[in-house]
Amino acid sequence: MCEKFVNVEKIFGENVFTLGKMKERLPKKIYAEVKNIIDHGGEMSLATADVVAKAMKDWAVEHGATHYTHWFQPLTGITAEKHDSFIMNPDEEGHMLMEFSGKELIKGEPDASSFPSGGLRATFEARGYTAWDCTSPAFLKEDATGAILCIPTAFCSYKGEALDKKTPLLRSLEALSEQALRIARLFGNTEATKVTASVGPEQEYFLVDRGLYLQRKDLIYAGRTLFGAPAPKGQEMDDHYFGVIKERIGSFMKDLNVELWKLGISAKTQHNEVAPAQHELAPIFNNANIAVDHNQLVMETMKKVAQRHGLACLLHEKPFAGVNGSGKHDNWSICTDNGVNMLDPGETPNQNIQFLLVLACIIKGVDIHADLLRQSAANVGNDHRLGANEAPPAIISMFLGEQLEDVVKQLIETGEAASCKEGGRLYTGVSTLPDLAKDATDRNRTSPFAFTGNKFEFRMVGSSDSIASPNTTLNAIVAEAFCEAADILEKADDFDMAVHDLIKEYLTEHQRIIFNGNGYSEEWVTEAERRGLPNIKSMVDSVPSLTTDKAVKLFEKFHIFTKAELESRAEILYETYAKAINIEALTMADMAGKQLIPAVITYTTELAASLSAVSEACPEADVSVQKELLIETSSLLAESQKAFKKLKEVTAESAAIENVEAQAKSYHDKVMPAMTALRAPLDKLEMIVDKEIWPIPSYGDLTFEV
Ligand code: ADP
Ligand code: MG
Repeated sequence: MCEKFVNVEKIFGENVFTLGKMKERLPKKIYAEVKNIIDHGGEMSLATADVVAKAMKDWAVEHGATHYTHWFQPLTGITAEKHDSFIMNPDEEGHMLMEFSGKELIKGEPDASSFPSGGLRATFEARGYTAWDCTSPAFLKEDATGAILCIPTAFCSYKGEALDKKTPLLRSLEALSEQALRIARLFGNTEATKVTASVGPEQEYFLVDRGLYLQRKDLIYAGRTLFGAPAPKGQEMDDHYFGVIKERIGSFMKDLNVELWKLGISAKTQHNEVAPAQHELAPIFNNANIAVDHNQLVMETMKKVAQRHGLACLLHEKPFAGVNGSGKHDNWSICTDNGVNMLDPGETPNQNIQFLLVLACIIKGVDIHADLLRQSAANVGNDHRLGANEAPPAIISMFLGEQLEDVVKQLIETGEAASCKEGGRLYTGVSTLPDLAKDATDRNRTSPFAFTGNKFEFRMVGSSDSIASPNTTLNAIVAEAFCEAADILEKADDFDMAVHDLIKEYLTEHQRIIFNGNGYSEEWVTEAERRGLPNIKSMVDSVPSLTTDKAVKLFEKFHIFTKAELESRAEILYETYAKAINIEALTMADMAGKQLIPAVITYTTELAASLSAVSEACPEADVSVQKELLIETSSLLAESQKAFKKLKEVTAESAAIENVEAQAKSYHDKVMPAMTALRAPLDKLEMIVDKEIWPIPSYGDLTFEV
């Protein structure tokens, strides 16, 4: 556990082989070469890699590392590592040498044939390679066994196909940079040499007592509760949101921050969220590639630190029915390397033509590829949020805010935006309080894709998911729109006229994606249908969008995915879905069969015994309560047993299906409803059966006794 006072400046980045440390430890020329590759790409010579590897190893060993690992992000959605020690064969005199070569730094061959590849690799040709991503710094992971030097890497097959989440992300970042530069140049920015996507993900999570967690097989195996009657109190009082942070949680958060700061992760904001036991952490935004790596580390560190505090961290999108689930707002913007945020409208957006073009391009991209964007945020857990009874809705729409909406309206109607609404002042009405400058735009919490001042906030992403796919998709669709605009504008004789016409055309054609109203309302569902916007309700339904002609054309054009890579990903998604629901169904069957149904039988037996004992001892006594309970309990018990059998039956049926798509559909259409049918009577029984007999902690125990 950490000390009371933390010297943040001292510990920040302590466990990272930062550019600063490289500069200190590398010869000037080598450092310049590495920095240039980090900034502008290119291949590193083996000689240079050798020097970097040695410096990296020396630094790591000085900090207690004995091993290194190529740290990568396979399609499981989490990270993978295989540790190798630095030790070499001892010399003749028996001295041990610790070594690390450039070759080992640049390339690894972890075999790793058990990771999902969606048919890209047959097991008989299972070579997979990890390649150093020098744009994300190496870091030390500390644990009870010591320290491990982690080298962020991409993971590819023998033929160079991406087997991970990082490779396509890096490809998409290059595409975005190239196309965004064309736009910047058109507006006279000749100094910029690169454009990056900046990302700040807000991570939501739940904390529960670890002792209670370990008593629930559903939390252990599925990461969410599969049974559980609502607690008497939920989130209705809004007293948890931004509420005082309990001491135990505060001590967890502090320890977590220290661990993250050491890893160079700028954990900044922390607060209690809406649901009981739910919290949020947001770092300061970073370049997208590093943000993705950092978010993985945030999730991993949350779990690790929670354990240290006798807590369990739940990252699942919907750990508890009936209270809010968790998401991850993906804040995204694009900045040139000479400091221009291309999403900054400035004081008068109506006069900022570059911004208006960028905005029009993003509106176009999101409208054309709404299905892909929706897919990029799909995972098994997120099905309980998107399109279910919870925010955000499954329909992609964009919120621009009052000021921009007004500008867009003027442009569509007249081709000019002569005026622009101002923020004005907010009068507090109290003489001792200052009046505040007001943003020109309020927020809309119900929008899945909202403009928030100088960035877009993509709010659909699930809390447990990697943010790599959403950002890859965003970068890709925006790169495509930029490319198409630049193709036209670079050829235009009258640039001003052409850009004016193009903005008007894009806004007019794609205005249907803009929606500033309540995204949670039923009316919106109908209205969106009228507008022809896709409403993709489940992960399984979202998979086909990956392999449409439109998607293949987009991703192949910018070398982000080949058709084969897309097909493999689609296959993996179906497989993942089927496997996850299979685990949930088996866990439910296990809990129902071995724990809950036997507990109900114990209870009914006790009731029956009481009934006969009381009647026998005193025939005049009123035993109507026992009788009534016995009848109700027995009836629910029979319903449970029937549903239990049915669940086992449909699960076995689905497990036997060979085609992955048909199998995933069967899990969705048959197993999921069977799970709901089993849960319903058992949740009712939980409310009736003696708490002493109920074998698992309740929702109240889990969410209030932290
Ligand atoms: P809120 O809860 O009000 O949406 P938070 O402070 O919790 O805001 O999180 C906002 C996130 O957006 C932070 O991670 C922040 O660093 C990030 N962010 C701020 N500006 C930008 C930007 N220009 N580009 C990308 N992310 C940004
Ligand atoms: Mg937030």
